[in-house]
Amino acid sequence: MTRRQLVGTSWKMNFTTGEARQYLRALLPLVRDLHSRDLFVLPPFTSLWVAREELAGTAIAWGAQDVHESLSGAHTGDISAPMLVDLGCRYVEVGHSERRRDHGERDPHIALKVATAIGCGLEVILCVGESCPMPTPMARSMVLRHLGAILGGRKPQDLDRVVVAYEPAWAIGAGARPAAVDHVSAIHLAVRNWLGGRGSSDPRVIYGGSVGPESCADLLVQPGVDGLFVGRAALDPGEFARIAHAGVEPTGQPAAASQSVAT
Ligand code: PEP
Repeated sequence: MTRRQLVGTSWKMNFTTGEARQYLRALLPLVRDLHSRDLFVLPPFTSLWVAREELAGTAIAWGAQDVHESLSGAHTGDISAPMLVDLGCRYVEVGHSERRRDHGERDPHIALKVATAIGCGLEVILCVGESCPMPTPMARSMVLRHLGAILGGRKPQDLDRVVVAYEPAWAIGAGARPAAVDHVSAIHLAVRNWLGGRGSSDPRVIYGGSVGPESCADLLVQPGVDGLFVGRAALDPGEFARIAHAGVEPTGQPAAASQSVAT
């Protein structure tokens, strides 16, 4: 079975509403011919309505970069899952290392966010990854420990609403470089096994961390890599489109070797 790969970007804290509109209008014609991969964009909360206006009826999904674990109430400055659903979001990102760093988020809190988001019908992009470089077996144990703490109590059908983004924190941001492809592949296969072993019928694991036009094609053909999550390289819509097309034949299909393994 071949699986469709998923390529997405979070804009993090970038772009005003006008810039968001400009970006999406530039991106759409560049990816119109791409039928073999699924794409998503995660703007800041303030531009979700722009994403809905520009992307409704297109093949690009949109979503948010965080969500509160409560459905409503006295949580100044926070945004709830029903608010995201109201804005047409398909996805919500949870557990990014910058949320851990800037807001002190930890696994038990992240687990509550995941449960609420799924309960409201959202699909979760769950970020997990080791915080500093370490040998692959250690990183694998750390990632599986995070998964156990965050997803351990979830039913199989809930796991099918989660895309795991393997994002080693040390590989993210200016000055960093992507993790080695064999390291990435080993972690992805372990995560897929973990999800499959808990009843997921469609384990999806995407890689994030300094993905760029030079590294994307190589990453996309690794066993277990179901797609990419791109940060700063995708702040340019042309670069995002190039990454989204990496390895795709003129027929619009990913090259045979780039088909991700099915469980
Ligand atoms: C990220 O923060 O999720 C990310 C992948 O960032 P970058 O590509 O800029 O390293």
